[in-house]
Amino acid sequence: MSARIIDGKRIAEESRAETKLKAEAFFARTGVRPRIVFILVGENPASMVYVRNKGKASEEAGFSHETLSFPPTISENELLDVISSLNADKNTHALLCQLPLPKHINEDRILEAIAPEKDIDGFHPINVGRLSIGRGEYFAPCTPSGVMVMLEREKIDAGGKHVVVVGRSNIVGKPMAALLAQKAPNANAVVTLAHTGAGIRLKEFTLSADILIAAMGVPYAITGDMVRPGAVVIDVGMNSIPDATKKSGSRLTGDVDFESVKEIASAITPVPGGVGPMTIAMVLYNALTAAERQVRS
Ligand code: NAP
Repeated sequence: MSARIIDGKRIAEESRAETKLKAEAFFARTGVRPRIVFILVGENPASMVYVRNKGKASEEAGFSHETLSFPPTISENELLDVISSLNADKNTHALLCQLPLPKHINEDRILEAIAPEKDIDGFHPINVGRLSIGRGEYFAPCTPSGVMVMLEREKIDAGGKHVVVVGRSNIVGKPMAALLAQKAPNANAVVTLAHTGAGIRLKEFTLSADILIAAMGVPYAITGDMVRPGAVVIDVGMNSIPDATKKSGSRLTGDVDFESVKEIASAITPVPGGVGPMTIAMVLYNALTAAERQVRS
């Protein structure tokens, strides 16, 4: 039997519509519109598309937003000054610095300069630490947060399940594992965090997963024989591979071999149209949360 296809586009649209309604209610109550500032350095085409899409989504949600574009030659100190003034600006609630940054700029230093309460990417060590101890107010990175929302809306309760996350990046894999392991409703999972250290044993681990989350950046890495019958498979991968039949010469594919896995899994996310759209939905959700916290305090 073929797996149920999880429609990330629909779930993201629903989430964005709800955030828009909440933002309108927030405005009616406080007279404040959430404001996001995007920082874009250089002319990396993918970064430009990501920032443009986030700006468009902010517009649609009725948020105030601005993109500050800087030449790739901007110095680290100049960028730090920009962040410092945005941190101090009471009208800016959320601040997002698009990565990667040019090599002469230390990314860690930039991410650590963003005020934690405006860091809607959840990359600041304070946010990472609070997520890890599961206490206080924090922001978790948007992609794994989007997967949590997706599971909840699809009524897939991770509680007591064995979830295997493949990939341990700070952006996806590690925060994904931390969110799933929280002692909280819709989380409370038993989590295994796999990576290249698993070597040839990877299949042994993935086969024991009730929920398998692939965040590896390797096209078609998870095949049907690596999946337990009836498992839920979430594909975070977004890989561009050559495709001569496309006008652009390439197409997007995940980390999961969709065709073989869909015959084994009970539910699966496609690429595109799965986890991808959830990320922008969570950028908006986090920005509204940032505004609500700052206007309240
Ligand atoms: P990353 O920083 O390159 O991390 C990849 C992780 O996968 C690493 O921890 C690596 O292990 C592990 N890995 C790679 N090959 C493996 C293998 N054969 N066996 C076991 N583990 C393996 O990538 P990322 O930033 O987390 O992104 C992962 C994927 O998600 C990419 O395709 C990216 O484009 C996509 N992504 C999508 C969204 C979205 O909005 N949908 C957002 C962010 C990222 P080691 O640590 O041992 O090297």
